Amino acid sequence: MRVSKKDALAFCFDVVMRGSPAESAVLEMIDLPGRAQCFDCLREVDIVDRLDPCPLCGGNRLLPVGGDEMRIKDMEVS
Ligand SMILES: [Zn+2]
Repeated sequence: MRVSKKDALAFCFDVVMRGSPAESAVLEMIDLPGRAQCFDCLREVDIVDRLDPCPLCGGNRLLPVGGDEMRIKDMEVS
């Protein structure tokens, strides 16, 4: 089983917020689409997972160019 970065962040968020005034804070995350540069067909393609092969040519030499970052969009404290 693979723990995604998102799960790890959600867990940390839980631990940090527990017992704090922001205990009921809601963590809202959005997934950014992954982008990668393919070395075989030299196109920039959308990938779901960084280990996916190129959807255009099936090549495995992909260089992620984005989508790996995470942004916290909003934080609500009630
Ligand atoms: Zn390709």
